[in-house]
Amino acid sequence: MSKFTIAVHGGSGTILQECMTPESEAAYIKGLNDALNAGYSVLNNGGKAIEAVKASAIELENNILFNAGKGSVFTKTGTHEMDASIMDGRNLQAGAVASVSNVRNPVELAWRVMQKSEHVLLCGKGAEEFAKQNGIEFEPDEYFFSKFRYDQWQAIKDSDDTALDHNIIPEVLKVKKFGTVGAVACDMQGNLAAATSTGGMTNKQYGRIGDSPIIGIGTYANNNTCAISCTGHGEPFIKAVAAYDVSCLMEYKGLSLEEAINVVVMDKLAKIDGEGGMIGVDTKGNAALIFNSTGMYRGFRNSDGEGVTAIYK
Ligand code: ASP
Repeated sequence: MSKFTIAVHGGSGTILQECMTPESEAAYIKGLNDALNAGYSVLNNGGKAIEAVKASAIELENNILFNAGKGSVFTKTGTHEMDASIMDGRNLQAGAVASVSNVRNPVELAWRVMQKSEHVLLCGKGAEEFAKQNGIEFEPDEYFFSKFRYDQWQAIKDSDDTALDHNIIPEVLKVKKFGTVGAVACDMQGNLAAATSTGGMTNKQYGRIGDSPIIGIGTYANNNTCAISCTGHGEPFIKAVAAYDVSCLMEYKGLSLEEAINVVVMDKLAKIDGEGGMIGVDTKGNAALIFNSTGMYRGFRNSDGEGVTAIYK
């Protein structure tokens, strides 16, 4: 039995301590811990990494504090369009959905795509039809509404800015952050898996698809190397082929997980204004949670009793 580990993130960005209250800080930490507990108990009961990342991601999707599932951000037209993906490092099986609306748990749908369809990535209406055929739960628009994100959208909806330019947002909204959620795990057998889910970016063009549902970019898992889930400004992450690059650096250059993530996040992404970060695990159960933004909601827990939950640098 090898060391097992779960790690999660709840988004990255300019997360400033002075913009948080002790109550909001505690609520975020609790949300992260609940997600870690959900994944950890799967692993502790001998469950597979793929089941653990799904459980953690669903926990985060159901928490309105995080921009995924319930509480997703608003598009330019005031709708919610969500992206999600999941990958199993044992066999490179993967499933993903993009631009789906009213699906309660997009990561569950991504998992179903992986299990039940011949495809890897379904989008929009086709993905929703597949969801209905497969008994996936839907929710009305109100379920996804959050006042905070509505105000965020109102502040920039008449501009061509996306939530990236949060410095144009009024004082009360100056917490600039990306909100994607994600989980990576290494189970008792040393199998790896990763999952990522997001509402994307506030005021995004409808139909815009970010890095999160793209296998090899927002999410990647391969038992030969690592499992990765990203958060940040999706476009640079796509250009950098971020998650797979970490795996390549490990496979072809012999870098450790931490070294490889450092190269991608602190050097390659930083050079192209790719603000954000990623979490990863390797087959020994080592975890790395690295970001080039001011903060990243994050945490990990392993079977050696080690763990941490944190927000700021
Ligand atoms: N990466 C996501 C996107 O660009 C945003 C995020 O991480 O919050 O859609």
